[in-house]
Amino acid sequence: MDLRETDEQQLLRKSVARMAGKYGHDYLIDKARTGGKTTELWAEAGANGYLGVAVPAEYGGGGAGMVELSIVAEEIAAAGCPLLLIVVSPAIAATVIATSGTVDQKERWLPRFADGSAKMSFAITEPDAGSNSHKITTTARRDPDGRGWRISGTKYYISGVDETEATLVVTRLEGAQKDSTQGTLRPAMFIVPTDTPGMTYQPIEMAIQSPEKQFTVFFDDAYLPDDALVGGEEAGLAALFAGLNPERITVAAYSNGLARYALRKGTDYAKDRTVWKSPIGAHQAIAHPLAKAHVEVELARMATTRAAWFYDAGDMAAAAEAANIAKYSAAEAAINAVDAAVQAHGGNGMAVEYGVGTLIGAVRTARIAPVSREMILNFIAQHTLGLPRSY
Ligand SMILES: Cc1cc2nc3c(=O)[nH]c(=O)nc-3n(C[C@H](O)[C@H](O)[C@H](O)COP(=O)(O)OP(=O)(O)OC[C@H]3O[C@@H](n4cnc5c(N)ncnc54)[C@H](O)[C@@H]3O)c2cc1C
Repeated sequence: MDLRETDEQQLLRKSVARMAGKYGHDYLIDKARTGGKTTELWAEAGANGYLGVAVPAEYGGGGAGMVELSIVAEEIAAAGCPLLLIVVSPAIAATVIATSGTVDQKERWLPRFADGSAKMSFAITEPDAGSNSHKITTTARRDPDGRGWRISGTKYYISGVDETEATLVVTRLEGAQKDSTQGTLRPAMFIVPTDTPGMTYQPIEMAIQSPEKQFTVFFDDAYLPDDALVGGEEAGLAALFAGLNPERITVAAYSNGLARYALRKGTDYAKDRTVWKSPIGAHQAIAHPLAKAHVEVELARMATTRAAWFYDAGDMAAAAEAANIAKYSAAEAAINAVDAAVQAHGGNGMAVEYGVGTLIGAVRTARIAPVSREMILNFIAQHTLGLPRSY
């Protein structure tokens, strides 16, 4: 076993860090405050092949895997300019289409995921279902007039609908029989162009400083052609699960990067700021939370690499538990790291200018989305520890 990154992975890490370092946190906050988008950063990351690093080489991608996509997500966040849409577009949508799409869907989308020129959002969460995805009611039915599908329903907290050309929408199929392998939900996924008649969306005002916005999305009998259905009617849960572990792994990597950024800021400040005889970093009340956060972040980074490694090795059973552990530990580590950095800054911790208080919303979200801390603990309690289910 060798835990060191390969030369290629180290080079990728350095190259992404160098590119993202040209943008940084001020770039992100300026975009967030002016209603701009991180278009330049996304385009440069795409042109360099970073966003498409896990897209199969036959479609113009890097042909690597989640270990490499995690490096990209982490290093961009570590520069202070996290890209949430890495989680939905390259990690979920590109993976789902690469693993479960039809030949035509792969040819249409993967080359553009490879160079970042296509962005796709992902919609599973619904107001009346929340964490219980089995209860989603957005339904796809055969168009009564002939070919194609009609979908109706509502999704919420869907990231980046305004800056993506299509949304990968999880529905249930009307009239689908329950079967023992698929539980109570027989899902299907549709690629829905965001200008589809019958699809509308409204922004949700969020307490997060980010250029990437969240939306409630409404489908009112929206018509979709046959080839909008990803992988056919039988693709179902397998296609959906193909995207969920990459989602957790890249959220973990994104959180790890944000935590590193916050720790660097907090530590630099604590070395410099002096209000008594020595810099405040000499006081253990300031040093220990930063040191503890560093330990937690390094553990979370190991957990994230391990989950990505299982995924890339095709061990999906191990990847499922490992991705949950990675997402849990990275979110908790990032929350603690940002909190320690804010505390080290005193009042400046809450000023936009110092660029640490501005991370609170982003890291706090990672405890809730894409799967909450509580649902991860439910998973571990039931599937790993064999404890009875309470809900
Ligand atoms: C910034 C942001 C971006 C997002 N982006 C997307 C996106 O792009 N696409 C998308 O589909 N969704 C997205 N989401 C939605 C996110 O995945 C959901 O918010 C999350 O899954 C929780 O669902 P909910 O908000 O309905 O909470 P609820 O399910 O209502 O849960 C509320 C609370 O109850 C707890 N809870 C619920 N059930 C149990 C239980 N059985 N045991 C213990 N505790 C329980 C939860 O852990 C949570 O703390 C995003 C959310 C945010 C905040």
